[in-house]
This record gives sequence, C-alpha cells and structure tokens, in this order.
Amino acid sequence: MKTMKAIVKASQQLGGLELRDVPFPTPDDDQVLIKIKKTAICGTDIHIFNWDAWAQKTIKTPQIIGHEFVGEVVAVGRLVSTVKVGQIVSGEGHLVCGYCRNCISGFPHLCCHTVGIGVNMDGVFSEYIAFPASNVWVCDPSIPLDVLSIQDPLGNAVHTALSFPVLGEDVLVTGAGPIGLMSVPILRRAGARYIVVTDINPERLKLAKELGADATVDVRSQTIQEVVAKFPLIREGFDVGLEMSGSASAFSDMVEAMANGGNIAILGILPQDQQVNWNKVIFSSLTLRGIYGRQMYDTWYKMTALLQTGLDKDVAKVITHNFDYTNFQEAFELMAAGKSGKVILDWSE
Ligand code: NAD
Ligand code: ZN
Repeated sequence: MKTMKAIVKASQQLGGLELRDVPFPTPDDDQVLIKIKKTAICGTDIHIFNWDAWAQKTIKTPQIIGHEFVGEVVAVGRLVSTVKVGQIVSGEGHLVCGYCRNCISGFPHLCCHTVGIGVNMDGVFSEYIAFPASNVWVCDPSIPLDVLSIQDPLGNAVHTALSFPVLGEDVLVTGAGPIGLMSVPILRRAGARYIVVTDINPERLKLAKELGADATVDVRSQTIQEVVAKFPLIREGFDVGLEMSGSASAFSDMVEAMANGGNIAILGILPQDQQVNWNKVIFSSLTLRGIYGRQMYDTWYKMTALLQTGLDKDVAKVITHNFDYTNFQEAFELMAAGKSGKVILDWSE
C-alpha cells in the first residue's frame, strides 16, 4: 500500500503527536488532490497538543491534525471543473452541509452542521490531502507561500474586523495574538480613527504598534482608561470592540470601555463561566456578536484583494518561525510556550 507522512494525534495525553505513515489519499470525483507545501500551527492545534478539556471532548484519536495550509493541486476528480492541476491553493476548513436553512439561503458560514477539518475529521498536516473542490480557494501565486498558508486565521481577522462598520470609529482590540495583530492593519484600511490594542505580552504589543495601532495597553500595569485619557477625541468610550484574547478579564474590561450604542464582535473563545456586566450591556445598548470562522466566500475574496494590495507585508510580520515538518515537536513546544507568533511547518522537499 502506498503511504505518506502525517502528523497524528496518536494518544490521549499532553503532546501525544507522532509522525506516522498513513494511507495515501485518493480523491473522490468531487475532490482534488493537493500536495501540501506549507502548514501553520493554530491555537486550536495547541489545544489538541495540550489535550485540554475541549480537546478531550472533541478529538477522536488517532487523527491527523491541522487546518491551515497552502499547496499545489496535483490531480482533480472527474466532476471537478473549477480547479486545475498546477494551481496554488488553500482551503476553507469548515465543511458545510449545503441543505440547512442558512446554507440554502446563501449563508453557509452559519451552517448548523459545520464540520471542521483537523478537528472533527482528518486534517492537513500531511504530505497530501484529498480536499473537496467546493472548499478550495485558488490563490494568487505572486503572494508568498508563508502568507498564503495562514489565510485561515487572517480570514478570522478580516471577518471580525469588518463585522461592524469602522469608518471614523474608535476601535478597541483585546488580545494581540496573531489574529488580534492582523486585525490592526485591516481596521486601518477600513478607516478606523483610533485603534487601541491590549495584551499582557510586551513583545506582542510592540508588534501591534508596528502594525499601526495608535496605542497599546499592557493591562498588567495600566488600565484602558489611563491610556484613553491621552486621546481627547475619544470622549465617550469605544464605538467598536474586537475580543480576540479569549480572556475573561479582557472581555470585562472591554464592556466597561464601550461607548453607548457600541458594537462588540467576539472571536476569542471565552470561558463558559464568563461573567458579563449585563447592566452595562443593557443600559448602554451594546450589541454583542459572536464570530465563528470566515464568511464563505466573501472573506476569502476580500482577503485576497487586501493581500494583493500590500497587506501581505503586514501579515508576514506575525510569522516568527519556520520549521521542517519533521521538527514538529519543537515547533509545537515553542508555540505552546507562547514564545512565538505564527509558526510554519514546511512540507516541500
Ligand atoms: P492567541 O492565544 O495567540 O492570542 C491571545 C492573546 O490574548 C495572547 O497574546 C495573550 O497574551 C492575550 N491575552 C491574555 N490575557 C489577556 C488579557 N487579560 N487582556 C488582553 N490580552 C490578553 O490566539 P489567536 O490565535 O490570536 O486567537 C485569538 C482568539 O480567537 C483565541 O481565543 C482563539 O481560540 C480564538 N479563535 C476563535 C475562532 C472562531 O472562529 N471563533 C477562530 C480562531 C481563533
Ligand atoms: Zn448547512
């Protein structure tokens, strides 16, 4: 039997990743076969690596993990006419049903049967993958491969940053992880007036400044209000908030810092027992919107347009490490220790 290498969550424990020989995939009639060139490690993969409560509930072992990738099409199924051999492609990792109310109404990002590649089924950390043609995104090959490999989280940033109008608005971003960082140049291009970013990591806050934040707040030593006091034009609080930390206290800080009528988009995965100051939400007429994934495929279209007009340079700054895929263990440990931005695994020989 023909085999290929893949990174598999093999055992139900901290770490538990193995490089294994797995069966070589054969694409179905409506799939394409992709030779993986680069993959990136997501926070979700770190949850699986750490084998936390969410991973224990969600992941069936053994399973190939990973969902952020770029590769080259090497074969297409009999029914595929939209993708060609030789194209550089990435893909939407949320597979939708196509028949639920939201799918048939043109809102597949709201599908109630969404299945996640690398989470609910085998993922992309492998030499090849058979991928549904419907979910393939054909890339502009002039954009660097490293950048193309992180379109999944970049798409989270695009979708979240554009979920409310920001032209002329003051925006608070809680969390300067890769997604929070990438949202800054997008907010800038969308016309935000002031962009303030919070975190507890000085290096990440420095990068936020480089990417165009007007001010940063290290919430370990400063309050948002102390920093906002230096901006006389921000009189009544923030108009738009992007929660991108998953931290309970960051979300609470954000709610307090919003102007009446403000809009909050929540991407960060907050704890189940998150406390919310409902009096502030109600009496300040705040809108809270949960964000999952990306809009199919408007986010991908806008993201490509942004990358083709300079965003690729900004996005490249959040990539801090490149490893050969065989050194995956070191890459995961580095990322799990919080000592990196985006970490890329290289699969091209
Ligand atoms: P990340 O974990 O790298 O970034 C989170 C950042 O928040 C870190 O820099 C951390 O230092 C910072 N932080 C911690 N405590 C803080 C506090 N009190 N105040 C301000 N900042 C604080 O994650 P990421 O990859 O950038 O993703 C951001 C969030 O979005 C994560 O929670 C992730 O799980 C979530 N996510 C959600 C979706 C979705 O579809 N909803 C998709 C991808 C990621
Ligand atoms: Zn559906």
